[in-house]
Amino acid sequence: MTGSNASLAPNDSFWMEAIDSRHLEPPLQGKHEADVVLVGGGYTSLVAAYFLKKLRPEIEVALLEAHYIGFGSSGRNAGIVIQELHTDRVNDLGSKKVRFTYDQAVGAVDLIEQIADEAGFDCELERVDNFDMAFYPAHLRRIEKEWAECREQGVELERLGREEIQASIHSPRFMGALLTPQAAVLHPGKYVAGLKKAVKQVAVRLFEQTPVTAVREGAEVEVVTPEGRLRARHVVLGLNAYNQASRLGVVRDRAVSLFSFIILTEPLSNDLWKEVGWSGRQCYSDLRRVSNYVRVTGNRILFGGRVLYHFGLSSPSGVEKIYGRLHRELLDTFPCLEGVSISHRWCGPVAISWRKTPLIGRAGKNRNIHYALGYSGLGVCLGTLGGRVLADLVLGEDRRWDDLVYLEDRMLPLPPEPFRFLGFQGSYFGMRLMDALERWSGLM
Ligand SMILES: Cc1cc2nc3c(=O)[nH]c(=O)nc-3n(C[C@H](O)[C@H](O)[C@H](O)COP(=O)(O)OP(=O)(O)OC[C@H]3O[C@@H](n4cnc5c(N)ncnc54)[C@H](O)[C@@H]3O)c2cc1C
Repeated sequence: MTGSNASLAPNDSFWMEAIDSRHLEPPLQGKHEADVVLVGGGYTSLVAAYFLKKLRPEIEVALLEAHYIGFGSSGRNAGIVIQELHTDRVNDLGSKKVRFTYDQAVGAVDLIEQIADEAGFDCELERVDNFDMAFYPAHLRRIEKEWAECREQGVELERLGREEIQASIHSPRFMGALLTPQAAVLHPGKYVAGLKKAVKQVAVRLFEQTPVTAVREGAEVEVVTPEGRLRARHVVLGLNAYNQASRLGVVRDRAVSLFSFIILTEPLSNDLWKEVGWSGRQCYSDLRRVSNYVRVTGNRILFGGRVLYHFGLSSPSGVEKIYGRLHRELLDTFPCLEGVSISHRWCGPVAISWRKTPLIGRAGKNRNIHYALGYSGLGVCLGTLGGRVLADLVLGEDRRWDDLVYLEDRMLPLPPEPFRFLGFQGSYFGMRLMDALERWSGLM
């Protein structure tokens, strides 16, 4: 499996204030050996490396990152920690697996808290309410359905009407919401920088500026980098959306990489906060198929959304239009923000799998290439969980995860290019059309 590291879109996020991209660990040079080598310096690999050393301090663990820890999506997301109850999978997988998976995802917040406590870092983790926001009457019907389906699985959510949701956040667009109480928000940069500190404390060998250009299979795997090689019994690929661009060839046909975009307002005055009426630190996403995800940080509003399919993950062109549209949506949602400047804007890749659920497993003839990817925009929670699960898979402790939906290996591969791109464009326009129909039907 060989690959190359083309110039990828840089991390311009607001969170870079907490990420050190200058004082880096030296790159891998010469020949090395370890028990486990992890590729990628984001939540998945860092959490896996941390638990590998916590569970088996005697093993040698090395982690290789192409740029710097936090370069990828882990250093540029919105920091919203939410989970999904996969009620659509109950019929084929059964309630037990679906519920077990949900409970483990909910537990990811505890995992983050545990690592932060043990390693002594603060990533501004706050447990908050999350709203699935209804914009149209069709969304209210979807809320009823989802509420009932969750209830059947023993998960109690709360339905809020227009007045109740307006008491939490004011917007002319909000008609109601489904409240999920077990969400959290955090500072993504502080979380990934904290994880770097945590793995160094447990003596993981870290190499930055070290792109892996090939993974050679065998009873011992060899990873090749521009200036060195490392042999190990196991390799863990924590590349998520970068998996496709890395061209290492492992499970490359299981998830498609798309760009997502974020804008951040300048700090709002107290008067403006009163107008927006945000009563706490809650986060939300709306129920359109092409939706926005929104939270507050400090006294700013972070507003994310839009997607773009861009081959190779280099800096996408035509982004002015996308940021412009995102800004218009922000103003449609909060008209009182007219005239407020956008201080930061950035983008990064997310990996979407066929079923929009992550895939965690083993590949290669020797089953010693471990991977987790396809978090479909929920990788703060699921990348943390994914890393924890991968640590157990490497150590052969699979039994504990038998009921995890994400371990199933029956996923259909995505079609090759250009059919994958055409398929995405088709379904994207289909989703926008459905959103428009739901909007019009609400106006009639
Ligand atoms: C704009 C945006 C908003 C998001 N918002 C949220 C949110 O609010 N909540 C949520 O749950 N999720 C969100 N996500 C998704 C979430 O950030 C990701 O799912 C998660 O960070 C994935 O973590 P990871 O460790 O698997 O991958 P990454 O953090 O992407 O790490 C992969 C690393 O691999 C490195 N790499 C690539 N190729 C090689 C190579 N050949 N050799 C060595 N290293 C290599 C990259 O440099 C990168 O650092 C968002 C994503 C984006 C882009």
